[in-house]
Amino acid sequence: MSNKTAWIEEEIEGLHESGLFNVIRTIESPMDAWVTIDGRSLLNFCANNYLGLANNPRLRMAAHKAIEEFGIGPGAVRTIAGTMSLHLELERALAEFKRAEGCISFQSGYSANLATIPALVGKGDIIFSDELNHASIIDGCRLSRAQVLRYNHCDTDDLTRKIAEGSKYSRRLIITDGVFSMDGDIAPLGKISDIADEHDIMLMVDDAHGEGVLGEGGRGIVDHFGLHGRVDVEMGTLSKAFGVVGGLVAGKNVIIDWLRQRGRPFLFSSAMTVPDTAACLEAVRILEESTKNVDMLWSNAKIFKNGMKELGFDTGNTETPIVPVMLGEASLAQDFSRRLFDHGVFAMSIGYPTVPIGKARIRVMNSAAHSQSDLETALDTFALVGRELEVI
Ligand code: PMP
Repeated sequence: MSNKTAWIEEEIEGLHESGLFNVIRTIESPMDAWVTIDGRSLLNFCANNYLGLANNPRLRMAAHKAIEEFGIGPGAVRTIAGTMSLHLELERALAEFKRAEGCISFQSGYSANLATIPALVGKGDIIFSDELNHASIIDGCRLSRAQVLRYNHCDTDDLTRKIAEGSKYSRRLIITDGVFSMDGDIAPLGKISDIADEHDIMLMVDDAHGEGVLGEGGRGIVDHFGLHGRVDVEMGTLSKAFGVVGGLVAGKNVIIDWLRQRGRPFLFSSAMTVPDTAACLEAVRILEESTKNVDMLWSNAKIFKNGMKELGFDTGNTETPIVPVMLGEASLAQDFSRRLFDHGVFAMSIGYPTVPIGKARIRVMNSAAHSQSDLETALDTFALVGRELEVI
């Protein structure tokens, strides 16, 4: 009998042999500064839980209360079963928080990109995309069937050259990550926005790692650069700093209205659940009330980055709480991560194809949830493993 899936077994075997098989840890506790794995308590530096909201008591309570009032599920897609007042409340709160005209929510950041890019450009149009843009942007670009020209990472001269090459297309879109997730550097959005204006090209930024992190009180990259009204689409996620799950697009009302008509994940996939939506709304309220968590995040990141530099580690070009600890070879990064784990620190190694060959690293995600003593423990453990492996 033929084995139609034998090729998959071979592929998986190949992944194991090349050390690229994804081993997924099981977390037996809430996502917080410390997590339980295999019954052991570990210091967590993997999560995008920037503000420590993933296990915040106010978010938990808001989810409970909303379940009492609205139940759990949204019933169907919003254009068919109607939209719950809770979703509209979240969108209004997000628009206000982000100082944008309007906002639409999606089930995830990934679906926000899949919804938005094909709604703005299609066959016969062109996209100018930073070469290090996130996979969900790449997938959104592919789905749109527009021509894609990749420009060199954060290189506005190359962007200008690519625009000259692609001038014959009618609708044009520049798209960039705001904060690049593997390096922690920030796109030069002010310059990119000038170029977009000069050439009359739509501009979209994926602010998944800037949401709740950059700008006044975490209002994101557009606020960080003071570009309100000049960036057509600000896409973000509710799964990182906001501590829950979901996606958003903020921008001019005309674009938000258009996405309600033409964003396919909005039209053909059900909305965020009730507890998710209520918890996100509470997260926005927390951010509106105080900058305490955002300030703590940046202060922790500064302490960690300075500590790592003093120890002699190469932390790349980060400008944000994402800290790449550059190690080079994938096997070294994996060994480093394993040893950290054995010593009680959970920090993942990242290798090819997520980052280029020879640029493997440990990616450290700082969080407002970490205490001073957590940071000291982490630095001591990095020093210990760094010396064991003769990296420092
Ligand atoms: N864009 C970027 C830059 C991201 O890092 C991520 C999350 N890894 C996403 C989009 C997708 O967000 P979500 O997890 O909410 O789908």
